[in-house]
Amino acid sequence: HADLAMYQAKEAGRNTLRFFDPEMHAAVVKRVALEKDLRKGLREGQLVLYYQAQVDALDRVLGAEALVRWHHPQLGMISPGDFIPLAEDSGLILPLGQWVLNAACEQLARWAQVPAHAALTLAVNVSGRQMHQPDFVAQVLETLERTGANPRRLKLELTESLLLDNQEDAITKMTALKAYGVGFSLDDFGTGYSSLAYLRRLPLSQLKIDGSFVHDLVNEPRATAIVRTIVTLADSLGLQVIAEGVETPEQRDCLARNGCHTCQGYLFGRPGPVEALNIYDTAPAATPA
Ligand code: C2E
Ligand code: MG
Ligand code: MG
Ligand code: MG
Repeated sequence: HADLAMYQAKEAGRNTLRFFDPEMHAAVVKRVALEKDLRKGLREGQLVLYYQAQVDALDRVLGAEALVRWHHPQLGMISPGDFIPLAEDSGLILPLGQWVLNAACEQLARWAQVPAHAALTLAVNVSGRQMHQPDFVAQVLETLERTGANPRRLKLELTESLLLDNQEDAITKMTALKAYGVGFSLDDFGTGYSSLAYLRRLPLSQLKIDGSFVHDLVNEPRATAIVRTIVTLADSLGLQVIAEGVETPEQRDCLARNGCHTCQGYLFGRPGPVEALNIYDTAPAATPA
């Protein structure tokens, strides 16, 4: 049968849909199996939150970004890039997103117990499907209340595509949560379909410069120009700015020269268990608790 399929495929030519593609079939089988595993993994506590430091100009830890990992019993640690798309397609992103939010808020509540850590913030990635659920605002508020986390320490990271999807819905929900003190950062900024019109309308608190610009910063004047423009834009709109993917001291210095003093990246620490965060050197509280 495989020979026959191959023959027919050759006959039909490259641009024609083939009836049976063994490779595609194998990929689908793998995906279905992984989805089943993820459903089970969620139930059985195989998800793990990693934390990556966000630092100020003096290397002091201001907080962290929570980055989910899946500890698969056979495949080992799996990165979100390999299972978030699957979770989004299957709808598992809803329980997964709730699990992440809950774990993050529990961590915020633990930090609040230690005076030196009480001002740390935590950034949580939110996917489109999650935010556009009708009860998203209620879920976030319920989680904050139940865990006792301070809403002012929670920052939700949104992407440009999420905001483009249904702008009115996003604005309504952001405004509702902002009233409680929750902050919003626009992740991977500069890579999506940003329009200045919507930047004006969204109740954001921060722009997060995408790592691709940081990567090319030192060798490419155009990347530097873009970074400088994003910083100016953030300043004009009264938004904070942070750079992601900072790997070298040269990149960090170049960012600072161009007005971006808050950074996240391997230079300051890889994502890891919360114990690995160097939070002994934290900045004093910016806002009273
Ligand atoms: P992101 O939110 O843009 O996260 C930044 C990614 O860059 C992370 O990959 C991080 O490990 C990586 N990174 C950090 N510092 C550096 C650096 O210096 N150099 C380079 N080259 N990379 C760096 P990760 O952890 O694999 O996450 C990938 C993406 O998965 C995230 O991109 C985010 O969009 C998504 N994601 C992670 N956790 C969650 C979650 O809980 N919920 C949702 N919906 N998405 C998540
Ligand atoms: Mg992020
Ligand atoms: Mg990002
Ligand atoms: Mg990025």
